[in-house]
Amino acid sequence: MSTFKAPKGTFDLIPPFSATYLAVRDAISAPLRKSGYGYVETPGFEDVNLFARGVGESTDIVTKEMYTLTTKGGSHLALRPEGTASVLRAALEANMHKAGGLPVKLWYSGSYYRYERPQKGRYRHFSQVGAEAIGAEDPALDAELIILADQAYRSLGLREFRILLNSLGDKECRPVYREALQTFLRGLDLDEETLRRAEINPLRVLDDKRESVQKQLVGAPLLKDYLCEECKAYHEEVRALITAAGVAFEDDPKLVRGLDYYTRTTFEFVHDGLGSQSAVGGGGRYDGLSEMIGGPALPSVGWALGVDRTVLALEAEGIELDIPAATSVFAVPLGDEARKVLFGLVTRLRKEGVATDFSFGAKGLKAHMKSANRSGARFAIVAGERDLAEGVVQLKDMESGEQTAVALDELVETVKARLA
Ligand code: AMP
Repeated sequence: MSTFKAPKGTFDLIPPFSATYLAVRDAISAPLRKSGYGYVETPGFEDVNLFARGVGESTDIVTKEMYTLTTKGGSHLALRPEGTASVLRAALEANMHKAGGLPVKLWYSGSYYRYERPQKGRYRHFSQVGAEAIGAEDPALDAELIILADQAYRSLGLREFRILLNSLGDKECRPVYREALQTFLRGLDLDEETLRRAEINPLRVLDDKRESVQKQLVGAPLLKDYLCEECKAYHEEVRALITAAGVAFEDDPKLVRGLDYYTRTTFEFVHDGLGSQSAVGGGGRYDGLSEMIGGPALPSVGWALGVDRTVLALEAEGIELDIPAATSVFAVPLGDEARKVLFGLVTRLRKEGVATDFSFGAKGLKAHMKSANRSGARFAIVAGERDLAEGVVQLKDMESGEQTAVALDELVETVKARLA
């Protein structure tokens, strides 16, 4: 125990639990990597205005949850609360949209920061894997991303998740709907803050979780009744493509998301085993974001899946990932001479690509073998003075317990053959 603890709302990832995180990140990114998405990494902080303009001045993320700071040089920065604005900024800065064909397809993985009230599944530092397809307006691209996320969750063995789908319209039809919704909301019995929200960002009121508000929203106008012909056709095609791919989804006409940049397709992945923080991931189209941050018109679509909540979803479904032991061979030296010889063998095995570890520190055979067991290694190499005098080491199969003497100069090949 030290004087310090991880800050409120954060936690450390330590072995063996951390291996699950790596496996989840790997499983989520695997379908992307095989579908033409290139890896992108951006800084953990950005100009605060990128998020203010991109994510939206009136969103909770920007008004309440951003970690902002002023540097000694006077720059106003924010720890990134989400990935899309940064990735788009990076793609524009590098002129990726001019370099080759569109869309520019990128995936990322990293830490995000929001000053939220911590609870299970909601942290101040969390981890996401995301994907962005920049610069194409094509329903097949929206469908691709939804299908790849579904594939990622399924590859982890998850079954109890649902995909909620909606269209938020575009700059033609949404303003008309916004007006209609605002008129409706003004007639309700709402508290002052909610009324204020209705003026600034009325769609967000639909997302209000309170029973007293939801009750009054029963007759609210729905965006689907206001979609223009183009948005309607676009949405129908997305639905048809996902359906044809055998991916089940639910139409959720009240789905809005906490970020202002979404247009047309929006979706959320929810898991029924997670209680109140049920959204494991979400995304959608953001056709206007590029222009909002000073770029050209670049219709785009993307998603971000939360790694922390995906791990909680695995726990909720009782799924244990099959994570192979990190170490294949564990070397146990008995005596000083054996330490030198076995340490040399360990280095050789590692060079040959065999995952090998060494029993460090002066300890007795029993403690050494305990370390070997704990490592999960398939084989232990044990050697004492008598073995070395005979030019052999003992190769012990940790599963069967069976032990054989192997000549020193044949050990590497023998181990490789038995592991194959
Ligand atoms: P959002 O950018 O809010 O749509 O979030 C996308 C996904 O990131 C969510 O579905 C969650 O899985 C995850 N996420 C967002 N905020 C948090 C948080 N504070 N703690 C843990 N996970 C989060």
